[in-house]
Amino acid sequence: MSKIKLEREVCIGCGSCSALCPKYFEMADDGKSHIVGSEKKEIEELEVEKIECAESAAEVCPVQCIHIEK
Ligand code: SF4
Repeated sequence: MSKIKLEREVCIGCGSCSALCPKYFEMADDGKSHIVGSEKKEIEELEVEKIECAESAAEVCPVQCIHIEK
């Protein structure tokens, strides 16, 4: 299993991750990104079988607040 991590307090709400990888990221009501299927909190985590587009989202994030653990 791999893990996707999102530091919500660092997110600036640019929307790139959700545009690139809607499977794992969506924009929440507060204007920041949220990992689809995870509990909403300061640092969100989701275990996944396949990282897929989340890797591209991590690369494109301008503030580097998406982390992938393989
Ligand atoms: S790409 Fe980064 S800064 Fe932009 S919405 Fe996603 S997590 Fe936030």
